[in-house]
Amino acid sequence: MAIVNAKEILIPATEAKYAVGAFNITNIIQMEAVVDAHVEMKAPLIIQVSVTPSKFLGQDVLAAVYSTIAENVSIPICLHLDHCREVDYCKSCADMGWTNIMIDASRLPFEQNIQQTKEVVDHCHALGGISVEGELGTVSGVEDQVVVAEDASQLCDPEQALIFIEETGVDLLAPAIGTAHGVYKTANPKVDFERFARIAEMVNGKSARVPLVVHGGTGLPEDYVRKLVALGGAKFNVSTDLKHTWIDAVHTYISAHRDEYDPGKLDVYARNSTKDKVKEWIALFGSAGKA
Ligand SMILES: [Zn+2]
Repeated sequence: MAIVNAKEILIPATEAKYAVGAFNITNIIQMEAVVDAHVEMKAPLIIQVSVTPSKFLGQDVLAAVYSTIAENVSIPICLHLDHCREVDYCKSCADMGWTNIMIDASRLPFEQNIQQTKEVVDHCHALGGISVEGELGTVSGVEDQVVVAEDASQLCDPEQALIFIEETGVDLLAPAIGTAHGVYKTANPKVDFERFARIAEMVNGKSARVPLVVHGGTGLPEDYVRKLVALGGAKFNVSTDLKHTWIDAVHTYISAHRDEYDPGKLDVYARNSTKDKVKEWIALFGSAGKA
């Protein structure tokens, strides 16, 4: 039985300074590939699904597949709803057995962000065993429902972060620090490490209370990732890299086997390609052997 919420695997990560990878999947084979990689490397895992693929695949189907897989492996696994802007949809996923919910009200005025986040927190905590992630400031780029221009992005204010945590009771905080969704247009994206360090110190300085989340892992230089993990980034989101890996693998396989009509072989190739890619991230996050 390895069904867990995000907070329970992220508190030890925060204390021991490693990150748990949170990988966005858009189909079941990807989900299995992500699990395979983590089982082989004995690492805790957060499976993430954005709103659009969750509606396409079915929130109930995903919850059922998740619980079946999680109950049959030795590592702890969390199923996370990513960047959801609909309070009711957040609640319904929690009702169906998703174990971490991200209500993204970060583009609303501060008071409304607090109000919506608190509503989801209250619902999830009443159900028991479900943690909630909130976002403060705006992560730029494209993430499923959420499209934000880079110049419109606002970074997270550390003082507001404390108020946000106190007033909402949120379990995980995603502070905007300059990382972005999609593909970075520069080799050296502007990441505000000092701001992140200040938030980590204020929130988790005495003891780990509210693990911090880094969005936009794809394309960040490896030394940036290591630095953010060392500063207290406990949940590290990877989405775009898995999408590219999947599309490239399918394209490569079909290009080389255009006359073959065996979907199973294509699936195995794409699954293994994804697994190999995920293993690179696990090594970078330092989470191998932590499950
Ligand atoms: Zn994100």
